[in-house]
This record gives sequence, structure tokens and C-alpha cells, in this order.
Amino acid sequence: MNLFIIKWMRAFPLPEKTEKLLRENGESGSFWEDRKDRHHCGIDLYAPEGEPVIAIEDGEVIDVDIMTSPEMISYWNETYHIIIRNHSGLFCKYGELGSPNVKTGDIVEAGQVIGHVGTVLNNKKIDGNAPEYIQKLKDNNPSMLHFELWEGEPVVEGRNYLGGNWFGDELPEKLLDPTEYLRSIKSNENK
Ligand SMILES: [Zn+2]
Repeated sequence: MNLFIIKWMRAFPLPEKTEKLLRENGESGSFWEDRKDRHHCGIDLYAPEGEPVIAIEDGEVIDVDIMTSPEMISYWNETYHIIIRNHSGLFCKYGELGSPNVKTGDIVEAGQVIGHVGTVLNNKKIDGNAPEYIQKLKDNNPSMLHFELWEGEPVVEGRNYLGGNWFGDELPEKLLDPTEYLRSIKSNENK
């Protein structure tokens, strides 16, 4: 009998693995960035709108839903999140997608295209009432993949969570810092 150490195959969630995409802690778009009244629950990986978003690991899609919309906040466009329960046990939330390619219950493989990068901010609607970090983004209105990593089922709505941010200073119990997880992914070498 052969004994193997199972090594989960992982793919980077965007076509190009660029170290520059990974923000250092404290930078705009980095994990747990302090946004005054809220903290950032994920990492923002800036990419052109429409760029494919790729499943990092094999898993099952457990939720696809609207993440932002003009009905929630007037300067938001409609974007989606996809949550995948990876076979390794971790949960990945891929957020701010313009369009999803998968639905709840789908089984996905690492490397599979699951959606496309969207743009949350609608520049024309951003006014002086928007938070400071939004004002800073206004002029370049970057499109991005907002990525969260959880060790339990991700929070998607509620008193403390809105649009990828956590209102409060205390880190949600099951939320992980995805920086090293993303950094450790070897580019799509297995595909
Ligand atoms: Zn974000």
C-alpha cells in the first residue's frame, strides 16, 4: 500500500499570479485594513473588469448571491459573491464579481473559471457623504476581486457585515488572513 501525503492542488484566483496584487498589511485593500468605522474582511486583488475569476481549490459551491447593489448603497453597482466549501475544509468567498458562472450545489475544480471581475463603485453617484476610503478610490474606480478566507461558514449579512467590511474592532471568529494562503499558491503549474 502506498501512503501519500495529500497535497491539495491550488490555483491562483486570477489568470496572472502577480506578487504585486497582494497588498502588504496596512495598505489600501489589505486584510483587516482599518477603514475608521469598519475593517476590511478580505484582500482586494485589482484586475480589469471582466477578467476570469478562478477557483483556488476543489470544492462545492454553497452560495451565490448579490453582494452589492444600488438598492443597498446608492454608489454601488450590482456585484455577486460565490462561496465555495473547499474539500480541504476551508471556505473561500470570491466577491465583487460582475457575473457568476456557477450556481449553488455545483462541484468545482481548482483552476476552473467561476465568474468574472466586477466593479462595485459607481463614480457618478459618489458624493461627499461616502466614507474617506471610498473617496480615495473614486477617481480610479478600480475593479477587483475581493477575496475572503474562512475556517467556518462565512458571514454574508447581518449587523456587522456589509459589502466585504466588518463594523467593529473585533475580528470575526472564523475569519482568516488570506495573505499567506494566496502568497503560497504556486501559479497554475498543475493545469
Ligand atoms: Zn475588498
